[in-house]
Amino acid sequence: MSEYKTIEQKRKFYKSTGWKKLRQLALERDNHECQWCKKDGKVTHKDAATLEIDHVKEIEDYPELAYDLENLRTLCKHHHNKRHNRFDGKATKGINWDDEKW
Ligand SMILES: [Zn+2]
Repeated sequence: MSEYKTIEQKRKFYKSTGWKKLRQLALERDNHECQWCKKDGKVTHKDAATLEIDHVKEIEDYPELAYDLENLRTLCKHHHNKRHNRFDGKATKGINWDDEKW
């Protein structure tokens, strides 16, 4: 089984063909809408925001769920950052998480 502990391993994962296909499936399943905005009664579509695919259980801890569609959800960039506490700019600084823009 693959491991996704290091930045390099994660980067490789997010560039893989398997992941790109899967994220597309997740986007389609979620109607290209942020699932958290949806909970708030808002529709955030890809025209209005950058959409990213989030692993509900992180691949670092659950590598076996990395390619599990059930473990994926569509979030807008704002919510995705919030979910990973990226606003402090420490944990993930310098990583290009979204090399694909939508
Ligand atoms: Zn959102």
